[in-house]
Order: sequence, then structure tokens, then C-alpha cells
Amino acid sequence: MLNIILCGAPGSGKGTQSDLIVKKYGLQHLSTGDALRAEIKSGSELGKEIGELIAGGNLVPDHKMIHLIARYLDNLSEDCKGVIFDGFPRTVAQAEALELLLERRNMKAVLLDLFVEEDEVIKRLLNRGKTSGRADDNYETIKKRLQVYQTETKPVCTYYLHRHNYFAINGNYSMEDTFCQIDNILKLAQK
Ligand code: AMP
Repeated sequence: MLNIILCGAPGSGKGTQSDLIVKKYGLQHLSTGDALRAEIKSGSELGKEIGELIAGGNLVPDHKMIHLIARYLDNLSEDCKGVIFDGFPRTVAQAEALELLLERRNMKAVLLDLFVEEDEVIKRLLNRGKTSGRADDNYETIKKRLQVYQTETKPVCTYYLHRHNYFAINGNYSMEDTFCQIDNILKLAQK
């Protein structure tokens, strides 16, 4: 099984690269952001609660996220070739929980750290905001999300670096060139 954690600031291209990985490697794509937005759309109590957090650029509490991931892993089909975790883990507590959840299932994951310059991600997100309809794609919330990324999520990269399960990707290039770097790593990781 090939399991990938796609880590990167908002707007770094995690969704785009996930689509390309799915196309070539047939993995299952779990975007926690998409899963949370679906919950908000459903109008549930949980949806209302997390809607405010997301609109403010804050993270959803760890225990809720870990529960969501545990449920997802329990429902994986037998023939699943692997999972792309897009947007999870976003804190060290989530990374520790994921490690345990995967260990129990005899699974492992490598982390791909997709780096894009801050000016570029702001530009991409403001552009996306023109059509995305997302409450968090506005300048003020983007700045907040980038700050949360630096303080809460960057340490997750260090966590994987210490476990030798870490690969840096330069995401400042075109979509194709960025994928080429990812593809080279995944070819090796598969062996
Ligand atoms: P994304 O679509 O990945 O940019 O996620 C949108 C928002 O969903 C984030 O800014 C967080 O508020 C929330 N979110 C997504 N994944 C997580 C996570 N693993 N932990 C906490 N909050 C999350």
C-alpha cells in the first residue's frame, strides 16, 4: 500500500497534485477540507460548529478530526491501493494519532512537503476566491490560515523528517513540473 500525506500551505496545490496522483496511481483521495465542507453543507449541528471555525481560518479540534480519520480508515475497501491524506495531519497531535491508527492496520505513510512562496499562495487563493464561494478565501482569513499553518502544521513536517519519512517538493513550478518531482519519489517509495 502506498499512503501519502500531502502537506503544504493553503493554496500550495495539494488538491491539484492529489488529482494527478489519483490518475496515475489509483489511490483514494481524502481531503479533510472537502469532508468538513460537506458536513457544513448538510446543515448538521457539527456542521454549524465547524463552519464558524473554518470561516475564521481556525483549525477544527484534534479529537473531531482524529475521529473522522479513524472512521474513514475503518471503511477502507479491501482492494484499496493506498490513501492520499490531503490536509491531515495539521497538528503534531494529529500526526501522533495517525501514526497509531496506521500502525494498528499495518499501514505506513510518507509525507510530501509541498513548498510554495507565500506571495504566490496568496495570489492563487485570492484568485480562487473569485469563484470558489469559500468563506475562507479572502485576504484576512488567508493571512490567518497561513499563520496557523506556520505555527501548527509546519511542526508536522519536522515530525516526519525525524522519522525519515519526509520528502520536500518545490511547488513553485508548473503543475506538471511539480508532479514530476512527486512521481519520481512515488516510483521509489513503491519499491
Ligand atoms: P482545506 O480545504 O484543506 O484548506 O481546509 C479548509 C479548512 O478546514 C482549514 O482551514 C481548517 O479550518 C479545516 N481543516 C481541514 N483539515 C483539518 C485538519 N486536519 N485539522 C483541523 N482543521 C482542518
